[in-house]
Amino acid sequence: MATGALAACSGGGGSASSTTTTTLAAPRLSGYPFTLGVASGDPTAEAVVLWTRLAPDALEVGGGMPAQPVPVRWEVATDDTFGDLVADGTAVAEVDAAHTVHVDVQGLEPGRPYAYRFLVGRDESPVGRAVTMPAAGDRAAAFVLGQVSCSRWGDAQWAAYRDLAESDCDLVVCCGDYIYERGPEDRAGGAVRGGQITAVTLDDYRYLYALHRSDEHLRAAHAVAPWAVVWDDHETSNNYVGETPDASSESRSPAELLERRAAAYRAWWEHMPVRFAPPTGPDLAIHQALDIGALARLHLIDTRQYRTPLACPEAVSSIGARCATSFAPATTVLGGEQEAWLAGSLSEGERTWDVVVNQIVLHQWRFAPGDDAIFNLDQWDGYPVARNRMTDALADAVGEPVVLTGDVHSSWVADLTTDFDDPAAPRVGTEFVTPGISSPGDELAVITDVVQENSPHIRYVEAGHRGWLRHQISPESWTAEIRHVEDPTDAASAVPVVGTWVLEPGQPVEQN
Ligand code: FE
Ligand code: CA
Repeated sequence: MATGALAACSGGGGSASSTTTTTLAAPRLSGYPFTLGVASGDPTAEAVVLWTRLAPDALEVGGGMPAQPVPVRWEVATDDTFGDLVADGTAVAEVDAAHTVHVDVQGLEPGRPYAYRFLVGRDESPVGRAVTMPAAGDRAAAFVLGQVSCSRWGDAQWAAYRDLAESDCDLVVCCGDYIYERGPEDRAGGAVRGGQITAVTLDDYRYLYALHRSDEHLRAAHAVAPWAVVWDDHETSNNYVGETPDASSESRSPAELLERRAAAYRAWWEHMPVRFAPPTGPDLAIHQALDIGALARLHLIDTRQYRTPLACPEAVSSIGARCATSFAPATTVLGGEQEAWLAGSLSEGERTWDVVVNQIVLHQWRFAPGDDAIFNLDQWDGYPVARNRMTDALADAVGEPVVLTGDVHSSWVADLTTDFDDPAAPRVGTEFVTPGISSPGDELAVITDVVQENSPHIRYVEAGHRGWLRHQISPESWTAEIRHVEDPTDAASAVPVVGTWVLEPGQPVEQN
């Protein structure tokens, strides 16, 4: 498990007890460097990744930093007085990583919170709270999982992130669209840079991550709990598929898209608290499994990078009838390697819940009866053969399958079956689709009634509110709270629970 953190830790190798020495001197900085806060992520029972970035002037190219590497001290303690250090060391914030730091702290105890912070010169970062996973084999009695997606900067205030930061999560999963490559036009901050609307270069994407993290509620949401993240399309370019740009994209060719992917994936790696080694080109494998003891396994997947493009001529903006390419056996959403990995990950071991952290909607949205019905082809609906392989893999999971999805800026609860075109197909699990943190679902409100009428597996849908989902997981049951923002223009808005859905292993989900 060579990681960026290992590369960044001089000598210590990220091990818990290392106190490393460095010959690097800390330069004088132009201002307080921890403007983008701290984050933790990818927890295991004995390790967690800690993240920060040095950026006194975060929205400027270079972040207001001198073009030299900077040593950053990190500390992990049992509580936020830092009287009892359990791990510490020095990492190096490198220029070519935008002065970000990823420290993979090892040797921690399972199932408990830790306080952490970073220090440069006399400056101290805000204090973060990281939480390790329960011990292997431990069927932990309770675990709280937050689920988010789709936080477009310009579209609303981030009351949902504020509420999340106040809600005692042990872990937050992001299903993608953490940034949007286009925008922001109507919230303070201006266009992407210099009047340009869409991010293309590495500096553009770095700007967008810095802009998003300039929001205090997002920083708070990272500081209170570790995150485990996957990307969707908007971290790179709207509705791209593999190497194929969407018709609306700034990228006119696969070569242009791949250049952009390299920039976008690099900026994502820099700014996310992830354990992966940094990408060196347009590819980065981000699928991974994280165990919550024997309570659950999270399978984090990537439905963008390896997907085969469709060629359905009737489709407009991905809405249309399926065509021959939708049914070709070689069509794939995950790519062969990831698909085989997921099937193996689901079917080995022992646990109560198998949780897939997914981007695009897995259950079917049928707009009319009959074979020529139209679908949203950018969802798994465009890939019915690949989806049947996916739901077969879910049917073989050792735990009860739960799929957590983002992308569509609206709230859905649905039964999953092995074949949505066969009304007699058996139920295999449940899907919870989280509303956007800020991206609106209003345009979907006109289709939800007709979709629900034609899709008996859909148990709940609401498209008029932003929000997030809070899942309380125990060995006996799974309780999903749907939390909706009352006033999207107000960061202090109430975010009430508007629905509670309860699931027991082997049983269909029921509204409480
Ligand atoms: Fe989105
Ligand atoms: Ca999306």
